[in-house]
Amino acid sequence: MGADCIFCRIAEGSVKSQKVAEDDEALAFKDLNPAAPTHILVIPKKHIPSLSASGPEDKALLGHLQAFARDLARDLKLESFRIVANNGRGAGQSVDHLHYHLLSGRRMTWPPG
Ligand code: AMP
Repeated sequence: MGADCIFCRIAEGSVKSQKVAEDDEALAFKDLNPAAPTHILVIPKKHIPSLSASGPEDKALLGHLQAFARDLARDLKLESFRIVANNGRGAGQSVDHLHYHLLSGRRMTWPPG
């Protein structure tokens, strides 16, 4: 567990979240400050600070997270959605625990800001 990591605390249950889905390795919960009508964060329960900080040992877990997000989008009947991982401060990462934003429910523009 990361020292003082808010997402580790959410994963262990000591900080409350609006949980959407969970399995042994992953958790999905609603973003506190939604950027779209549906804005869910998908995280590994394992503390990995960012995508760049993941290693070869995390390969299966990374695949699992994507499949987990896909299944969630399917269960929620999201027709169009976007999955985003901000990596590093310059890309907008503010929480140093790997997470994927699952965004849906509004028209998306490209390129993202
Ligand atoms: P990022 O800026 O890509 O690191 O994304 C971090 C996201 O975590 C932001 O969209 C925040 O709104 C969200 N967030 C931060 N703390 C919490 C929390 N306690 N519960 C739910 N979402 C959170």
